[in-house]
Amino acid sequence: MRMVVRYDDGMTRIAGVPAEDEAAASAVLPDGGRPVLDAGVVAQLREVLAEGALPGATDTAAVPKETLTAWVDLLGEVEKVKHTVAAVQARVAVALDEATRASEEKQGIRKERRGRGVPSQVGAVMGLSPNAAASFLGDARVWVQQMPCTFEALRVGALSEWRARIMVRETSHLSAEHRRMIDELVCGDLRALAGLGGKRLTARVNELAARLDVHACVKRLAKAESERCVSVRPAPDLMVYLTALVPMKQGIQAYAQLKAHADAVKGTGDERSGGQIMADTLIERVTGRNKADQVPVTVNLLVSDETLLAGGQAPGVLLEGSAAGVGAVPAQVARELVAAGVDADAAWLRAIYADPQGRLLATTSVGRFFPDGIMSLLRARQHGVCASPYCDAPIRHADHVVPHGDGGATSLGNGQGLCVRCNHAKQAPGWSQSVLPPDDPEARGRHAVETVTPTGHRYLSVAPEPPRPVRSSPVHRGRHPRSDRGSLSCASAPGPISRPRRRLRRRRAGRGVDLAWALPPDRKP
Ligand SMILES: [Zn+2]
Repeated sequence: MRMVVRYDDGMTRIAGVPAEDEAAASAVLPDGGRPVLDAGVVAQLREVLAEGALPGATDTAAVPKETLTAWVDLLGEVEKVKHTVAAVQARVAVALDEATRASEEKQGIRKERRGRGVPSQVGAVMGLSPNAAASFLGDARVWVQQMPCTFEALRVGALSEWRARIMVRETSHLSAEHRRMIDELVCGDLRALAGLGGKRLTARVNELAARLDVHACVKRLAKAESERCVSVRPAPDLMVYLTALVPMKQGIQAYAQLKAHADAVKGTGDERSGGQIMADTLIERVTGRNKADQVPVTVNLLVSDETLLAGGQAPGVLLEGSAAGVGAVPAQVARELVAAGVDADAAWLRAIYADPQGRLLATTSVGRFFPDGIMSLLRARQHGVCASPYCDAPIRHADHVVPHGDGGATSLGNGQGLCVRCNHAKQAPGWSQSVLPPDDPEARGRHAVETVTPTGHRYLSVAPEPPRPVRSSPVHRGRHPRSDRGSLSCASAPGPISRPRRRLRRRRAGRGVDLAWALPPDRKP
């Protein structure tokens, strides 16, 4: 196969290779013309796609029909390229995983610990969270090892990555033999895949699975029921999605009752919309309060001192790990959250000290409760999110960037907050990390960690910008010179707080606001 691209000047060339280098390009076409995949060649192909001129796009007012046809053809071909690219990524990821496991086996690493770093490697280079990369790698393994027809359909561009993942998901409860049969029945004939959307594909696979193994399907349903749960994730504009995964019968019943209640209440002249009444009723019934907005709020909030105390306008940050999730909140909303906690006599305040650049330095609890104090600062510094590139998981472990066993200090500088998966990944053979000096241009004056993977790839994770204090008035500016700036951080929730405070919170058992603010070191009490 020889990848040929036609250029505007009428010349045809091997993908992305200038005419004069065409001879050199034969280096990537050994073995009877089968190209060798190489990141450099793929990068050139990508350049052709990105930079290529659209044929006939000079006069959009009078585009001939043939040109429109060519554009539609181009759309289709490029879409197929996406599917093929997913197949290539799957092949490469599986090969990397297998080679890593084999090498770790030779090093005497226990089976359950082999390959732990691979999802992080795959995720870092593909721009995915380690969790998403682990899920992709799992599906890729099934395509490559158990579902050859699905993989072939993906490889030639006849099946999208999403639909190929449906093939894996909907056969996950079956034996390898039944999986192979469904693979062949559904994807064996590429023409039959045309026009088959996700829902119809799911239905077709489910039908075949039920015919092949009823027992496995019943077990799958029982397992699904055992996985019922409630979750919360951030939505835009300080909202959250509160989601319950429940058996279909119960879910429909609950929805129907809320709907019937909303219709009845609206009939009495309530001015709220049906959706608003349903949401309010759900919260009132779950919390036992007779008004939805009386429900205690628990959030972790980081704000500058001036935003909280001097009418500043710098937004606060809701830390990951609080119910509301991560995100910026306007200054006024931050103040209202704190005021609500103060009203309920359940607000906690902690000072976090910052240097003139806004880097967090210390916290009031460090002296008495060192581990908790460090953890609270790590959470604040990273806005509650795991430090690994692309990872959105909440912090679970306080980690030594340079391991303690290698002489790494138990300090804020050598500390980072990681999720469980990322902490395990960095312990795999061949991984190393170091902290960049703050004056390194890449660190941009913040805490920055460089990770080197076993293949020598380097990734940088830089802590997000902390909320900066703002000068609210010229008078204020006069009283506090610029070098004095601090930032105030306030949190209301199950947050990074010391042990006595936790006891205090349990006693109060109500609305909680934990406040912390950052001051320059020379203003420490
Ligand atoms: Zn992580």
